[in-house]
Amino acid sequence: MIQDQFKRPLRDLRISVTDRCNFRCTYCMPAEIFGEGYKFLPRDEILSFEEIERLTRIIVRAGAVKLRLTGGEPLVRQDIETLVAMLAEIDGVEDLAMTTNAYFLPQKAQALKDAGLQRVTISLDSLDEDVFQRMNGRRSSVQKVLDGIAAAEQAGFDPIKINTVVQRGVNDHTVVDLARFCKDHGYIVRFIEYMDVGTMNGWRMDDVVPADELVARIDAELPLEPIGKNYRGEVARRYRFRNGGGEIGLITSVTRPFCGACTRLRLSPEGQIFTCLFAGQGTDLRAPLRSGASDEELEQILRGTWHARNDRYSEERSELTEPRTEKVQMYHIGG
Ligand code: SAM
Ligand code: SF4
Ligand code: SF4
Repeated sequence: MIQDQFKRPLRDLRISVTDRCNFRCTYCMPAEIFGEGYKFLPRDEILSFEEIERLTRIIVRAGAVKLRLTGGEPLVRQDIETLVAMLAEIDGVEDLAMTTNAYFLPQKAQALKDAGLQRVTISLDSLDEDVFQRMNGRRSSVQKVLDGIAAAEQAGFDPIKINTVVQRGVNDHTVVDLARFCKDHGYIVRFIEYMDVGTMNGWRMDDVVPADELVARIDAELPLEPIGKNYRGEVARRYRFRNGGGEIGLITSVTRPFCGACTRLRLSPEGQIFTCLFAGQGTDLRAPLRSGASDEELEQILRGTWHARNDRYSEERSELTEPRTEKVQMYHIGG
């Protein structure tokens, strides 16, 4: 097992399989910036499935047991189920999940399940049509997401998790409805504090709704009680409904950072590894990979990178007088 400067082991790997997306969520890929002429990575700069599989094997050997496919939108990468099947074969992988905007789930859910995907997390910011459309740049509708959820359920994904980014004055007035909907349907919703990832969403602290405030608002209508962590490194604060019917989670990345428990490495579509969601730079594995490095050599680079890791951006955020100007973008490494 390898440890970083704060003795944090490497346990989770997020694999971003593409920097492209069919949505334009205002907090992630605002349409004004990611317009028609935006230059995404060319095909040959993106890792092939074989390259992703090889790097993943090496990262799993170094300790990762949980994998999550993300993006951009992972389902816009062609034949993504082929990659799922390749990753599902890797010895030592205990959990294989995907985060998706659900748009293509009606076509893909069964193939993903058959290929060995264990869990899906579906992003849905509001059940209010206008609010939701405003947040995704008018690329989807609530019904499209509900169709995607239904397809995932039909394919046997259980439980379904929902990710909801909360922004003050945008969708915070709709969270109780969403919590009630998830409770009624047995979905586990995770409310995520809007984060200052990347440099393009114009983030301001005033836009964040602190998790405590959200809990109080939900508790007033659907009484809640706290529950413990499932495992070390779990980042969600969890609550169950007092009258039964499931749980909700809060990702308190801004108001109560959890860097001390952060065991996550991120692999970008073009083969860089990032040790923090807010990192300015990654470590390139593609160049050595394509110029013939052995598995042992690649593992050496990985171990050195993890060993040097001392990231704790969210804990330091409040001490920063100026925002960091160099940060990787969310759509690039996938949250
Ligand atoms: N396209 C897929 C999706 O939206 O589910 C996967 C990639 S997306 C970048 C992963 C997650 O990050 C989504 O649930 C999204 O809502 C969340 N996210 C994106 N930008 C965020 C931000 N600024 N703060 C908090 N969460 C964010
Ligand atoms: Fe696309 Fe996901 Fe970013 Fe929305 S959050 S723009 S769906 S990558
Ligand atoms: Fe992990 Fe960086 Fe987020 Fe802290 S700020 S929890 S180190 S990704």
